Amino acid sequence: MELSKRQETILEIVKKEGPITGEQIAERLSLTRATLRPDMAILTMSGMLEARPRVGYFYSGKKPGQELAKKLHQIKINEVKSVPVVVPEQCTVYDAVVTMFIEDVGTMFVVREGGWLEGVLSRKDLLKNTLGGQDIHKLPVGVIMTRMPNIIYVEPDTSVWEAARRLIAHEVDALPVVRLVKTKEGQTDLEVVGRFSKTNVTRLFVELGEGGY
Ligand code: ADP
Repeated sequence: MELSKRQETILEIVKKEGPITGEQIAERLSLTRATLRPDMAILTMSGMLEARPRVGYFYSGKKPGQELAKKLHQIKINEVKSVPVVVPEQCTVYDAVVTMFIEDVGTMFVVREGGWLEGVLSRKDLLKNTLGGQDIHKLPVGVIMTRMPNIIYVEPDTSVWEAARRLIAHEVDALPVVRLVKTKEGQTDLEVVGRFSKTNVTRLFVELGEGGY
């Protein structure tokens, strides 16, 4: 965030003299309080200054980016996830393409009965095999999907920051949101409970820009 010269000066004054009232800051700058109001609003909303009633302004020592970082670590996947679109492993490539259009998603999850994660199907997995000259009315998605244990996933209480980091680090468009469940045999099964995609990140970005969250 770029600060104006006047905002920089206000920060300096509060750093040196805080706690200090709005009135006193205005006096130092030979301006009216009304003129300063928008600057004070920006400096407090960004978290750089803290305002205490009847005491005045304090310098918080926080850089504007730190506030945003804190928020991104606090917001959990559960609050922003979408509904998952799933198909069974025996589903044909043809039917998967139709489902992808109807459901208007770019990534689908392949599950076995009970909603347990088996694989991931992306747009290009389907495109590649549609162009491949095989009979897509017969070819099951189980043959072409990316399979467990190679799937990158998140859990409902993973932070949106960590989820976005995984999208970038693994160069994928979406992650299944899963609940880890221990089986009787002592293994871990992944129950699909949501979908987190680049669209969720973009939507959150817009909401943060609007002052939501
Ligand atoms: P696209 O194929 O449209 O470029 P992606 O970049 O998401 O979409 O997918 C690239 C490859 O990575 C595909 O083969 C897909 O099956 C696989 N993939 C997609 N999402 C995941 C995931 N969460 N974990 C592991 N592999 C994935």
